[in-house]
Order: sequence, then structure tokens, then C-alpha cells
Amino acid sequence: MKDRVYNFYAGPGALPLPVLERVHSEFFNYNNTGMSVMELSHRTDEIQHIIDDSGARIKRMMNLSDEFEVIFLQGGGSLQFLMVPMNLSHPGDKIDYIDTGYWAEKAIKAAKSLGRDLEIIAASGDRNHTYVPNSDSIQTRSEAKYLHLCTNNTVVGTQFHNFPKVPIPIVADMSSDFLSKAIDPSPCACIYAHAQKNVGLSGVTAVVIRKSILENSPDDLPELLDYRTHIERKSNYHTPPCFSIYVMWQILRWIEEDIGGVEAMEKINWQKSSALYDFIDATPLFDCPVEVESRSRMNVVFRLPTKSLEEQFIQEAFESGLVGVAGHRTQGGCRVSLYNAVTLDAVKNLIEFMDKFAQKTNY
Ligand code: PMP
Repeated sequence: MKDRVYNFYAGPGALPLPVLERVHSEFFNYNNTGMSVMELSHRTDEIQHIIDDSGARIKRMMNLSDEFEVIFLQGGGSLQFLMVPMNLSHPGDKIDYIDTGYWAEKAIKAAKSLGRDLEIIAASGDRNHTYVPNSDSIQTRSEAKYLHLCTNNTVVGTQFHNFPKVPIPIVADMSSDFLSKAIDPSPCACIYAHAQKNVGLSGVTAVVIRKSILENSPDDLPELLDYRTHIERKSNYHTPPCFSIYVMWQILRWIEEDIGGVEAMEKINWQKSSALYDFIDATPLFDCPVEVESRSRMNVVFRLPTKSLEEQFIQEAFESGLVGVAGHRTQGGCRVSLYNAVTLDAVKNLIEFMDKFAQKTNY
């Protein structure tokens, strides 16, 4: 489609064009119901099928055994910062966290507000969050109920490429790398992902939960904030964000059927991010501050030598149809997000632009 730009926003961001086309083609009449999916009652078989099939696809693509359930909630990643400690621990319990910057710190602040014995057992603030702590060196406290980490740090552009090997269950905020790669979920008790980045549309939050961990949940949780409610009611306890779930479902179908699954998706994501990192490392005008081993395959952050050059770069990129390359407002600089829907072609165009910009500034 020739009037569309290349979208590098950190989320909400690009959606796969085939998904937009499918949504468009069935917008007024979903599956011969004579209604838009936006007009369907959440109690219809159509909506429940979309919810159930989305869960089944996530289970298949993430290699989740029947020990796990997938539920779809509202309230974003931010509500999970509270629901995780509420459901997986009791007041006074030990819970361990890794601090890798902005979103990890929000999760820590939320959990602390609930009166848990929270300890930050590893952190990357000593080097301005330009790396993630080495997975092999992470040690949890005995009796801690879980270890929480943010697998991909959207703001600072770092990523854990493996789960730490620890003797307690892991809770992973995978908001910005969910279904971008193959993972082994066996060390996890809970994985959650807000939308919209790699899958979904904002309004829906996917939560993967190991059922057995909920046997110890407090009995006095408010019904709405209890994972067990949403498992029992098949993510349809109260009005779900039907349209957001529907778009997520279309994206899941696209990953599974068009792309060929998460392994194939991962390959494309590595190709895209490697091309960009290689170019940045070879071009003196651009500098990626993130240590090589910790670099995110989703969010590539980089700097130019001065603030005014950065502003010029972002402005000229925008004028060339390359949108969303400014860094997070707390960081400045530049950030390019390469979620599943961003094509290799988009990255090639960006690199071409960056190359021309570097030649022009003659740095
Ligand atoms: N975790 C991560 C890693 C994120 O990137 C974000 C949002 N960008 C959140 C949590 C918060 O999600 P929400 O805005 O839906 O609360």
C-alpha cells in the first residue's frame, strides 16, 4: 500500500498488513453473522471461539503443557504488576525482583505497595541499565515465592536471551518480546504481556499461568483480581475487550499460518535487528550504548553526537516516511522498535536513510 509509512513506534506500533486487510474485509459482516465483530455480544459462540482459539494458539506456539492456562485480561502490564504479587504471595512473603530499569522498577514499586518482603537481588543501574545481569550469576533467596524479571526492557533496549536458572518459579514480564521468539516456558509460573507490541491490540493483556501455583493464592482476593476467576470463566467473567482480542487472534493466526510459527518469526527478528546493529556499529555517527550480549532484538536504542543532530535526524526521518524513531521521553536519543509486524524491507529502508544522513553530515 503506497500511502503507508514505515512505523517504528515502541507500542502501540506497526500491525501486519495482512492482518489489517483481513480485519478490513470482515469489518461489516463477521463470519456471516451480518454484524461487525464489534457489534457481537461477548456471550456469543463467535466471541468465545475467538477467545478459546487465541489461547490454544498461544499454548501451541509457546510449547505450553496442560499445566498452564492462558487468560486475557484488561488493565495492561501495569495491573499485572499488582495482580502477580497479590495472587502469587501473601503479605509479608519474600519475593525477589531484578531491576533492569523503567518497567522493572514500576513492577517493583507496585509490589512493594502491597507490603511484601521484596528484595532486588540483581540490578543494572550501576551502568545506567545498559546491560542485563548475567543469568548464570543470579541467586534468589531461599523461601522467596518467585523471581520477577522484565525479559525485554522496552525503554533502554536490553533483553534477557535466557531465563536465569534459579530454584524458584519465574514470573516474566514479556510485554515487549512475547511471541517474538521460541522459549522454554518450563521455569515459569507466570508470563504476561500487555498490548500492543508483538501481538494484540491495546486493551487486552495476555497472561500465561501455571495452575498449580494458584493453589496457594490468598482466599480473600477480590474476585476480579483473582486469576482463578478468569480461568474458570474462560476470560469472559465480565465484558472482555472483544475487538482487541479479535485483532490479537488475527495476529496469532498470521504468526502461526503465514509466518510459520515463532521459530520462523525469531529468525526474521534476528535478521532485522542484526542488520541494524551491524550498520550502527560500522557507522561513527551512530552509537548504541547497550552492551553487545544484552542487546534487545526488539528495541534498538542509539545516540548521535549532539541533541540537535538527534532532533534533525528524527525530523528528517519522519519527513521521509520513517515514523517513531525518537527515544523514550525519559531517555532522549533514538529508539527503533522492530516488533513482529515490522518488515525486513522497513529496516532496509531505514538503514538506507541512516546511511544517507551519515554521509550528508560527514561525521
Ligand atoms: N512492561 C513493559 C516491558 C512495557 O514495555 C510496558 C509498556 N510499554 C508495560 C509493562 C506497561 O504496560 P501498560 O502500559 O499496558 O500498563
